[in-house]
Amino acid sequence: MRVLITGGAGFLGSHLAEKFLADGHKVIVLDNLITSTVDNIAHLFGNENFTFIKYNVVNYIYVKDDVDIILHFACPASPLDYQKHPIHTMKVDSLGTLNSLGLAKAKKSRFVFASTSEIYGSPQIHPQDESYWGYVNPIGVRSVYDEAKRFSEAMSMAYFREYGIDIRILRIFNTYGPRMRANDGRVVSSFITKALKNEEITVFGDGTQTRSFCYVDDMTEGIYKISLKDGIEGEVFNIGNPEEISIINLARLIVELTGSSSKIKFLPLPEDDPPKRKPKIDKIKATINWKPKISLKKGLIKTIEYFENILKK
Ligand code: UDP
Repeated sequence: MRVLITGGAGFLGSHLAEKFLADGHKVIVLDNLITSTVDNIAHLFGNENFTFIKYNVVNYIYVKDDVDIILHFACPASPLDYQKHPIHTMKVDSLGTLNSLGLAKAKKSRFVFASTSEIYGSPQIHPQDESYWGYVNPIGVRSVYDEAKRFSEAMSMAYFREYGIDIRILRIFNTYGPRMRANDGRVVSSFITKALKNEEITVFGDGTQTRSFCYVDDMTEGIYKISLKDGIEGEVFNIGNPEEISIINLARLIVELTGSSSKIKFLPLPEDDPPKRKPKIDKIKATINWKPKISLKKGLIKTIEYFENILKK
């Protein structure tokens, strides 16, 4: 297959590029490197099946060759990043989605959209399944991400309904692992880097808010299987690990696993920070026989090793 990945130099995109190449597919990555780095894909440059184009998909996308699958993964994804680049975030998940869908129509490609658990906003039901419509503040600080992703879901469905494009939507829940940026502001990368430096760990609010964290290898496997699966056009799937933990317990676990002397410091809870988040994953389980295999503890140990090496450099 010929696969095009927007945002393919990012955290998830680069793992996907690697996975498709390892299985003998051709991969084109488009990325403007706003919140990603070529370091994530440098090891792929020698592969004759790999092409990297530094490009902002907010602009019209031209690709000469045929493309079988487009994965639209370009977008600043951490709350810190998307609040730093609010307009670009809205553009990449509106104009960028439109251009990527236009390319899918022109090339008759399958389209896989990287949506998010954020489309559920501050969920009023728990855990969240795909039938839930969400509870989103349309003008809050997180809205640039939430609403752009919701728009992209609607746009993907419009291309499915009007042109019969083979789209599928993945609502990706919190994911962590190697190639997260140390300074991306996300909770796992922040806590690990601070613990390794024996600096204060900043817990926002009282730390009772929960998240459910999926290790990147499990996530990559699930996205890969959904991308290759026939007969699921127009479908939406939650993807993530339902193992839920409070942020304060995550901080304690990371302190324990790193053997750190860090103290925990409490800071105010950011605006619209969702109090709970946990996916129901019955639908994806039933569709591709996928479920996460790596426990939080095991995944954190691998991620700590990665950051130890990064910090040594
Ligand atoms: N968080 C925290 N300290 C940090 C970074 C994040 O307590 O240094 C909390 C944040 O308030 C949220 C959770 O950890 O409740 C997950 O935050 P993250 O930015 O990783 O992603 P989100 O799930 O909110 O998109």
